[in-house]
Amino acid sequence: MSELVSHLDYAPRRSARLISVGAHSTPKPKLPRKRKRFEDNEPVSTGIQGQRDPQSSDLCTPEHDPSEQRRSRKRKTNEIEESSESVEPAYIIPDVERKASNFHGRLGYACLNTILRAKRPVASSIFCSRTCRLDSLKKSGVDFAKHLARKNVEDLLTIIQWNEDNNIRFFRLSSEMFPFASHRDYGYSLEFCAPLLAKAGALARKYSHRLTTHPGQYTQLGSPKPAVVEASVRDLEYHCQMLDLMNMGPDSVMVIHGGGVYGDKATTLRRLKESINTLPTNVRNRLVLENDELCYNAEDLLPVCEELDVPLVFDYHHDKLYPSSIPPSAIIQRANAIWTRRGIKPKQHLSEQRPGAVTLMERRAHSDRCENLPADLPPGMDLMIEAKDKEQAVLYLHRMYDLQPVIHASLRPATANPSMQTNGRKSSKRGSRSG
Ligand SMILES: [Zn+2]
Repeated sequence: MSELVSHLDYAPRRSARLISVGAHSTPKPKLPRKRKRFEDNEPVSTGIQGQRDPQSSDLCTPEHDPSEQRRSRKRKTNEIEESSESVEPAYIIPDVERKASNFHGRLGYACLNTILRAKRPVASSIFCSRTCRLDSLKKSGVDFAKHLARKNVEDLLTIIQWNEDNNIRFFRLSSEMFPFASHRDYGYSLEFCAPLLAKAGALARKYSHRLTTHPGQYTQLGSPKPAVVEASVRDLEYHCQMLDLMNMGPDSVMVIHGGGVYGDKATTLRRLKESINTLPTNVRNRLVLENDELCYNAEDLLPVCEELDVPLVFDYHHDKLYPSSIPPSAIIQRANAIWTRRGIKPKQHLSEQRPGAVTLMERRAHSDRCENLPADLPPGMDLMIEAKDKEQAVLYLHRMYDLQPVIHASLRPATANPSMQTNGRKSSKRGSRSG
């Protein structure tokens, strides 16, 4: 990691009026706006030679190139590529509005670091969600998935170090770290990766980083279908094994939503409670619930959480879209009482809707960055920032509220015209839930 930060200068606290960094001639490289499914024919992580690199057009088949003209074109392009790789792009970073707050807690981000992911050449890109098609796993065997998983965990070490260097000490692990690990037929234990996971966990604990997880939209503990509940339990067991093998303490929770309503909220909540009560102890100990924006608001979940002593993650944005009859301050007070009883540090989620969003679907889409810390935010809270700009959204708030020193070279400008689309989260009141 020293290579990553050695050339960076740390901005002194309270001084950072970041108008610009370096030369202005190099354009901003396109950051991944959407999680790109990592395919097994990309040489990025597999190390498989001789396959087409989607980033480098047709440059991978020189032996079939009939013309000298084309060869010289290739040489030229390579030269351009090599020179562009060696130049560190510079960015114009606008100043931020300065805001006051008594907040002194941690801000976190979820799963992906846009700077490390955008590293080029492609083979040096750092991320934790390499996955493959189920077909590839069937053909190549489980070792292929395990190979990707090892690369994912190796990269997690780099991300943890980057977070530490940038004063971010709260991070959500990608659920895709181990492709298909919780699959009914092709799933596998994470024991093969135990030493590496232990190493990643030790690094996080050395720096007192909090690592959490958020199992996906198919985790439906209240489903009327036993197969869905079984799959949900398998998925929770997988996340739990990941955290257990990292030796993470009780603050490393697994956040899920209430799930679908299935036409009858009361009955579904009863099934949810039954499922939670029959979970293996280590899984139940890490499980926490979060209010969502469509099916279960905080008021729906609080009685369940209080009865079962399962903490509630309060999501401010979801509460705005699907409010309770009690105000956030009262919800937070009741939620915090559960966290305290359980001896787990409370955490909350923050996101904002995009500027100009009108319809519910538009309002559900997370903005690139957050402009305000909530009025009801307890000063010492661990606040997960669920914004599209990931670590940039955290650094933005660090600067705006003067929460942590910021490294100039880690800053990227915001996108000028963000879209209104919801990326990836598909749900309805009837069936699957929000993510
Ligand atoms: Zn959330």
